[in-house]
Amino acid sequence: VRDAATGRSDRVVVFDPHGWVELEDHCASDLSVVNAARVSFAKHSIEYSDNDARVLRFLMRERHGTPFEHNYMRFHVRAPIFVFWDWKRHRIASYNVESARYTHMRPDFYIPDDGRIQTGKPGSYSFAWMGQDESQWLKENLTEFCETGWAKYEEAIERGFAKEQARLFLPMNLMIEFYFSVNARSLMNFLALRNESNALYEIHEYAEAIEQLWAKVMPDTAKAFQELNRVVP
Ligand SMILES: Cc1cc2nc3c(=O)[nH]c(=O)nc-3n(C[C@H](O)[C@H](O)[C@H](O)COP(=O)(O)OP(=O)(O)OC[C@H]3O[C@@H](n4cnc5c(N)ncnc54)[C@H](O)[C@@H]3O)c2cc1C
Repeated sequence: VRDAATGRSDRVVVFDPHGWVELEDHCASDLSVVNAARVSFAKHSIEYSDNDARVLRFLMRERHGTPFEHNYMRFHVRAPIFVFWDWKRHRIASYNVESARYTHMRPDFYIPDDGRIQTGKPGSYSFAWMGQDESQWLKENLTEFCETGWAKYEEAIERGFAKEQARLFLPMNLMIEFYFSVNARSLMNFLALRNESNALYEIHEYAEAIEQLWAKVMPDTAKAFQELNRVVP
């Protein structure tokens, strides 16, 4: 939500310091949901009332989904490429993303603090901490790998290679910026799948931040979604 005085948006830092989410702009309210339903009776309200909160909950519970589509949130995100890779599978949204063809990328990489071990089978994996020594190994080796890739990237550009080729030296944990614009119905689908314990840890962290920001502008919609078992209307 943009502060009129400073021009800055609310920012939630997800992976300090390079990974963050901002709700840069929105046209969204709980009232818009109820009014979209009310147009069936050629009616319109200006003020959101307690009764509207009950109507909204009814729409959510009975899965009347379309009234949740008449709104829009524009998020500005900085995340690792591998997170964006999963994120963009959510097709009912609009995206624009930083281009490694046009931009000299910045050497900001996501390096996890903790290593994790994976057990189980597809659909029901569980993860446990690998311990201090292995986590240290991961951090050191990943950092070294990123530094080597970055040095080769810079060298390739210096030698005259196009950025679109030089970028092949860059790993999937490089941070990139993108815009994600979405309506609440599709956002709830995203949140149901990604702000969820089965989701990839890193996208889960971003989805949690997104849900926090969304709940500020559509508080009753978020509350009904959360209380009604996160079933997408
Ligand atoms: C834990 C997890 C593991 C995953 N693993 C894999 C994997 O191994 N491989 C892989 O490829 N993907 C994987 N995915 C991605 C997943 O298959 C979806 O592509 C992604 O979650 C987007 O969901 P969606 O299609 O519901 O969202 P959106 O694309 O935003 O679509 C929203 C809704 O619109 C409707 N819709 C959209 N497009 C169509 C269409 N063409 N036809 C009919 N209805 C449509 C559907 O109701 C859909 O739920 C995984 C996702 C999760 C959460």
